[in-house]
Formats: sequence, structure tokens, C-alpha cells
Amino acid sequence: MTEIRNIVVLTGAGISAESGIATFRGPGGLWEGHRVEDVCTPEALARDPVLVHRFYDERRAALARVAPNAAHVALARLDAEWPGGLLIVTQNVDDLHERAGAKRPIHMHGELKSALCAHCGDRRAWEAALPPATECGRCGLPALRPDIVFFGEIPYRMDEIDTAIADCDLFVSIGTSGAVYPAAGFVRTARHWGAHTLEMNLDPSEGSLFFDETRLGRAGELVPAWVNAVLAG
Ligand code: NAD
Ligand code: ZN
Repeated sequence: MTEIRNIVVLTGAGISAESGIATFRGPGGLWEGHRVEDVCTPEALARDPVLVHRFYDERRAALARVAPNAAHVALARLDAEWPGGLLIVTQNVDDLHERAGAKRPIHMHGELKSALCAHCGDRRAWEAALPPATECGRCGLPALRPDIVFFGEIPYRMDEIDTAIADCDLFVSIGTSGAVYPAAGFVRTARHWGAHTLEMNLDPSEGSLFFDETRLGRAGELVPAWVNAVLAG
């Protein structure tokens, strides 16, 4: 393996599971008891804005009752101490990477603590409940919605992510099922550009065969051990 300088870490719902935030569950992909199609698509938002807004209000409020776990803390330490390049890309909409101290992770699927104006595209920090038809602070229209990238919408900051993946020597995927694209395709791009690829997950993911190395177990145990080893050289 070539010397490691640049690292890209992709995280998914599994890294927050030990903090008490549910992952997607079941064959149909239930999220906190709801079918993904009912809370995670533009069609659902148009059909039943009260339900969709309330769902994300509940997820946002629940953040006050959870805390980062050892895996988030270890990645924040890597962020602070790694002398090369490091990009943390998360599919999660929780704020546990930041609360552990990670500097500016990319939330490619949006954030619970942010509101998006469906009319003018303004995005701003949002802590409270967000009822449908809340007025946008910029354009004034009653068009604020949860700043969540729904299925069928384009994830944020893909150019930056693609560039970092092309430049990385090590690509690490933590706690993601490998079912949601484009994130599920990052491992193949990383390999294409010559990176070593490592997966840490509770179960083999749908993309396991694309990784050079898979470590099965809980993120709260595997990630701190991996970070210790990387920082020790
Ligand atoms: P997923 O729920 O599809 O898969 C989670 C993966 O994590 C599974 O493969 C599971 O085996 C693994 N896992 C569970 N517990 C683990 C642990 N303790 N340690 C390590 N791995 C563990 O999640 P996904 O791939 O991130 O896709 C789900 C989508 O849903 C994302 O786009 C995300 O935006 C959204 N989501 C976000 C949150 C959150 O923000 N915390 C929670 C649920 C869903
Ligand atoms: Zn607006």
C-alpha cells in the first residue's frame, strides 16, 4: 500500500446507532416506524406536509436527548490530529459529528438543524419546530421545508466530495448499508483512483465486495481502534 496522506471518511446511520438514533430498518426501509416513501420523498412532502414536517420536527427534537458516541469522538480526534488531508462526509442528518468536535463535516443529505426555502434556496440554521408554510427570512414566501435531501433530489457538495475521493489514498466507510446512491458508489470511485478501501459495519453491506478490507462489529469499538492505529502510523 502507498503511504497514506489524504483520507475520506463516509459515515451512515450506523455510526449514530449506539447513540440511540435509529437506522433504517426492515426490508421496506422503515425509519422510526414510517415507510421511507412517506417521509423521504418530494411527493410525500407535497401530499402530506403536516406529516413530513412533524416527522423531522420529532427527529430534530430527539437530538437533545442523545450524545456523540466513541466513534464520533474518535473521528473528531482524527480530524484534529491527522497531518494530511481529511474529509468527513456524512449521510446523516444528525449533528453528532459536530458535537463531538469534528470541523465542518459535509452533510451530503442535509441537516435536521437547518431549514431550506423551496422557493429561493436560502438555507439557515433552525433549532425549533418548523411548521408547514413558515415564511422564509430572505424572500418572504411561506416556503420553508426541512433541509433534507429526499430520494430523487441531488445531494449537496458533490463536486467537493468527488475531488476529495479522487485525491484520497484511503477511503473508509462506516455504518452505512451501501444501498443509497450516489454514496454507495463512492467506494468504486475511490478504488478507480487507486485508494485503499476499508469498511467498518455491523453486518456486511450491499457493497462489501467492493472494499479491500471489511471489519465487522460496532462502530463504537472499531472506529476508536482504527483511529488509534492510523495516528500511531
Ligand atoms: P442504513 O440505516 O441504511 O444502514 C445502517 C447500517 O449501519 C447497516 O448496514 C447496519 O448494519 C449498520 N450498523 C447498525 N448499527 C451499527 C453499529 N453500532 N456500528 C456499525 N454499524 C452499524 O443507513 P445509511 O446507509 O446511512 O442510509 C440511510 C439513509 O437514511 C441516509 O441517507 C441518512 O440520511 C438517513 N438516516 C439518517 C439517520 C441519522 O442522521 N442518524 C438515521 C437514519 C436514517
Ligand atoms: Zn426564500
